[in-house]
Amino acid sequence: MERVLILLHGDADGRLGAPAFEALSAGLRTAGELGGAAVSVGIVGHAASEAVGQLAGCGAAAVFTAEHPDLAVARYATDAAAALAVATAAGATVIVAPMTSRWARALPGVAWRLGGRVDTHVTGLTGSRSGVSATRWFYRQRMEGTLQRVDRPWVLLIDPGAFPAWTGSGAPVSATPVALDLPVSRTTVAGVEAPPAEQQTIRPDADLLFVAGAGWTKKQADGQTHTGDAESLIVAFLQKSRASLGSSKSLVDLSGEGHAVLPFMTHMNQIGQTGATPRHPKGLATCCHGEEPHVVGWRFITERRAVNLDPNCGWARGKADVLYVADAFAVMRALNELM
Ligand SMILES: Cc1cc2nc3c(=O)[nH]c(=O)nc-3n(C[C@H](O)[C@H](O)[C@H](O)COP(=O)(O)OP(=O)(O)OC[C@H]3O[C@@H](n4cnc5c(N)ncnc54)[C@H](O)[C@@H]3O)c2cc1C
Repeated sequence: MERVLILLHGDADGRLGAPAFEALSAGLRTAGELGGAAVSVGIVGHAASEAVGQLAGCGAAAVFTAEHPDLAVARYATDAAAALAVATAAGATVIVAPMTSRWARALPGVAWRLGGRVDTHVTGLTGSRSGVSATRWFYRQRMEGTLQRVDRPWVLLIDPGAFPAWTGSGAPVSATPVALDLPVSRTTVAGVEAPPAEQQTIRPDADLLFVAGAGWTKKQADGQTHTGDAESLIVAFLQKSRASLGSSKSLVDLSGEGHAVLPFMTHMNQIGQTGATPRHPKGLATCCHGEEPHVVGWRFITERRAVNLDPNCGWARGKADVLYVADAFAVMRALNELM
């Protein structure tokens, strides 16, 4: 019989975030499908015992906490040691964890120390009489594969956005602290350097993906480019809508060449075959042609709309639910005024 451990970590404020609850629902459901596999939850963090309160009513047979001030920050050495202690205490054969940057860095090493295996970017997880099956995409989201493994423990990192977040309430759970022997680390986390929230344009939790294409930098009807206007329209829209900013490859390649275009755009924003494949309920593409290598990155965007001057652009060929044949400068100006 499998012993499933759902391994979570607290965020900077000590609490469990949305990816943790998504991994929790994936793990609980799979354990149930396995026909009553023993399921436990582990929480690693500087305030793990407080985060336990967020699990009230989850129904886990046991909850383990690994709590230490050094676990307030993400650091491979201490995170891996804490995760190892929890996995060992739980005697886990299957470890389900959220694919946060923190766990993506630490848990592959933990799997190796346990003599197990790890799979990342898991988007589907089921249990049946034939065991645990995990689904993930290969070759830049072109092929979907379903895997089973005989190696144990099997660590499965669940991609955010692939499962509904667990919600529930009920009886508070009691937790068992695990003994920690954290290594003396040579790594001191001096702080985090991150752009202010209003400059942070990649927002995985946003309801809307707003894509800017190279058309924003092209000559317009008056024969001139209007890059300054493009920048202020896009920035104003992002500030008002809190949308996540995506780009076509053509636009970020221009920025990379040092042209005076949209300075807040980097290759990190690129959507597509050689870019990212984000998950947002809605997407709005502007001044972007909608070619296949770009649109393949929209695979998980549920509702798609585009604004393009060209009624024959790629979006018109079944790639968008709605195409507005219009000048994106005018549309975004009007939209910003409405907002
Ligand atoms: C191997 C390979 C991998 C690739 N990977 C990617 C990838 O990951 N992501 C990606 O994006 N591309 C990728 N590409 C490139 C892709 O094929 C396209 O070249 C690119 O997406 C085009 O970018 P664009 O639509 O912004 O620019 P353009 O093709 O130049 O289109 C600009 C659009 O803006 C419109 N426009 C101009 N002014 C306005 C206005 N005022 N209002 C409304 N619309 C306006 C025009 O009508 C036009 O349709 C890849 C290509 C290859 C060969």
